[in-house]
Amino acid sequence: MPIKSLIRTIPHYPKQGIQFRDITTLLKDPIGFRMVVDALAHHYAHQKIDKIAGIEARGFIIGAALAYKLGVGFVPIRKSGKLPAETVGHDYALEYGADRVEIHTDAIAHGEQVLLVDDLIATGGTAEAAAALIQKLGGVVMGCTFVIDLPDLGGSKRLVENGLKPFSLCEFE
Ligand code: IMP
Repeated sequence: MPIKSLIRTIPHYPKQGIQFRDITTLLKDPIGFRMVVDALAHHYAHQKIDKIAGIEARGFIIGAALAYKLGVGFVPIRKSGKLPAETVGHDYALEYGADRVEIHTDAIAHGEQVLLVDDLIATGGTAEAAAALIQKLGGVVMGCTFVIDLPDLGGSKRLVENGLKPFSLCEFE
């Protein structure tokens, strides 16, 4: 069963005209979930990774499982005001408005190789902001990985142009 066929599409969520790609149907399938983690672990098996940084919230699920499988540490990147210790933040623009992501200042040591993980890349704004946080701490973003790429929205192209090396398991138009 291919990974893509286990992803559910919710029309007009969270607003009219948006086709929301929902990975909860993939995660609840034990074979599907394992296929995702194993495929990513296989892809990164021979690359040097010190830490995985997962983007709130679905990036935590995939990222933590992948960190366990690869035997590396996991650090969370969260929305503003959620992390308890000292943080650094990065503000970024959304289609309508702005948002902010934060990371603990002691999450990543200078020179560590960090793999960024999220469920989906659309415009790339979230991944770019998360990458900026890692770089502010002196970390090296060795790659960015997603279950789903929406190539028409240009995010993965944007990451390539910025040297952030995206890799996704499937695409939706
Ligand atoms: P971007 O910043 O435009 O690349 O949007 C990516 C972020 O929005 C990720 O954190 C995703 O979890 C979330 N996102 C956007 N569209 C979807 C979707 O269709 N399904 C699940 N998450 C989405």
